[in-house]
Amino acid sequence: MADDCIFCKLASGAIPTDFLYEDEDVAAFRDISPRQPVHILIIPKAHIPSLADITPEHQALLGKICLVAKKLAAENGVAESGYRLLTNCGADSGQEVPHLHFHLIGGQYLGPFCS
Ligand code: 5GP
Ligand code: ZN
Repeated sequence: MADDCIFCKLASGAIPTDFLYEDEDVAAFRDISPRQPVHILIIPKAHIPSLADITPEHQALLGKICLVAKKLAAENGVAESGYRLLTNCGADSGQEVPHLHFHLIGGQYLGPFCS
């Protein structure tokens, strides 16, 4: 856990939040500023700054995150209509929070991939 990391504080319960999913490795909660009708953040509980910091030892964790995304998509009504799972990595992506997270967005037509 990184002491100054907001997502570490959310994942650890130091800052209470409503989890849509939680296990020993992964947590998911709604984005505080949703840009789509469904906007969920899925994070590893471990402090990994970004995708640039993953190693082969994270392979199972990343697979689990994809399965959690599939489950949450179904639970939030976008499994059939479609959705997007994305992570921002580094300055040019606009990554704001330096704790690896995946945005699960959907609930309306999302348009082209890039803006
Ligand atoms: P990034 O730009 O780093 O990919 O996305 C960070 C996301 O975290 C943003 O969509 C932002 O709204 C969200 N966020 C930032 N702080 C908080 C917080 O304290 N709680 C929640 N639930 N989301 C947050
Ligand atoms: Zn963190």
